[in-house]
Amino acid sequence: MSARAAWTEPTAEPVAEGVFRIPLPLPNDALRAVNVYLIRTPAALVCIDGGWALEESRSAFDAALRSLGHEVGDVTRFLVTHAHRDHYTQAVTVRQEFGARVTLGIGDRDAIEYFGAGRSVVESQYRRLVQAGARDLAEAWRTESAGHSVDPKLWQEPDDWLEGDVEISLGARTLAALATPGHTRGHYVFADVASGVLFAGDHVLPTITPSIGFEPVPSPLPLSDFLASLAKVRALPDMMLLPAHGQVTTSVHQRVDELLAHHEERLHRCEELVAGGCRTAADVATEIPWTRRGLALADLDPFNAMLAVLETDAHLRLLVAQRRLNQGADAGAHCYQLPQWTHDDPEAR
Ligand SMILES: [Zn+2]
Repeated sequence: MSARAAWTEPTAEPVAEGVFRIPLPLPNDALRAVNVYLIRTPAALVCIDGGWALEESRSAFDAALRSLGHEVGDVTRFLVTHAHRDHYTQAVTVRQEFGARVTLGIGDRDAIEYFGAGRSVVESQYRRLVQAGARDLAEAWRTESAGHSVDPKLWQEPDDWLEGDVEISLGARTLAALATPGHTRGHYVFADVASGVLFAGDHVLPTITPSIGFEPVPSPLPLSDFLASLAKVRALPDMMLLPAHGQVTTSVHQRVDELLAHHEERLHRCEELVAGGCRTAADVATEIPWTRRGLALADLDPFNAMLAVLETDAHLRLLVAQRRLNQGADAGAHCYQLPQWTHDDPEAR
């Protein structure tokens, strides 16, 4: 196993006083694993995130808890950072079995209703890809996802919804539950400022750029939400980063600064790439290097190509909201152009 993937090895690693990192496997997923963090107090066992409801994940969870002298039925509460399957669904199955309490941000209510009705995210992403000028990719992704089904039992509502910023007392410990929309509309991070640790979910990840708006009912400007949520976390005292994917690192601020710089650079690049015409998100995405290895869009698998095109679309939409670009239409797809290329500007008539 490479050093990069060492964080995925089964463990219950102490990362702060009374806090353990438990990586749970995500088979067939490029992310490899999701970190569940166990917080132990004299009266309760609380988990940040629950993992994906799969047998392999459940046995790893069992083994990690046993190594600490507990069992899965001892978990009293799951604070879930957002409604993606690798974070939410195992919290629901453990609740069904043992009655743990499940908490989620209210911004993800539309997603819970959508998946709870057994609907797949494929249809909503298909429409968005066609709008982004990537019809071939939309077809490829639909073909690849054929047969993928959503089990409504895994998407039942939480016991309570988080709304706004709230404090959660866990024995002597206080967690600040902070709304951080962007990765999904209902994403939350949990800050234990006294202990200097941030349970960051997928809002701040150490080695990858979190995807934005991969959800069935997205926000109109997910990137704008995400950048505001990064600024919100940057305004807190610096803390250790406890991410949902990847190793624990020492500075939230350092990683937030890198993510802000990345998006600033991408916004400039997108603006440059539409110069001289009306370009769709798919056009622009083919000229941007992807992943740390700098791959071309055509070299990504359909799932990652889908994320890349929709991320580019999010950048272009934000540039429109900032009045740096205008939006037009090209054969049913949205295209984007520099303001001086727009001929039907009513103010210019
Ligand atoms: Zn995740």
